[in-house]
Amino acid sequence: MKVCSECGSQVSDQYTTCPNCGSMNLTVQNNIQPQMSAYQQPVYNQPIQNQNGNIGWGILGFFIPIAGLVMYLVWKDTNPADSLIAGKGALISVIVSMGLCILYIAFIVLMFVISLVPLIFNFM
Ligand SMILES: [Zn+2]
Repeated sequence: MKVCSECGSQVSDQYTTCPNCGSMNLTVQNNIQPQMSAYQQPVYNQPIQNQNGNIGWGILGFFIPIAGLVMYLVWKDTNPADSLIAGKGALISVIVSMGLCILYIAFIVLMFVISLVPLIFNFM
């Protein structure tokens, strides 16, 4: 896609002169044009917007991972966007609770070690 420097109209690549005003100052717009359409399309295009899924299902999946997993399996084919976000919510929830579990175990171990310190000093 080219853009006419004189009148600003979009010109197809096969043209060497602008069909609108006859100018030969055509600039190749490979970079700017796709970026602009990429920004504009999600706003107007409903199906693309839906690909992000409803964040509510992600939050529900986070708090109730089982529900998130069920939603993921049920919607996998019919509603991939919501299925994915519910699955992600459940996955994040599992990772966070595993992280908390590890922190909890580390805390218990730390407390145990600290409680042993006076005993070690008594032996010295
Ligand atoms: Zn022109």
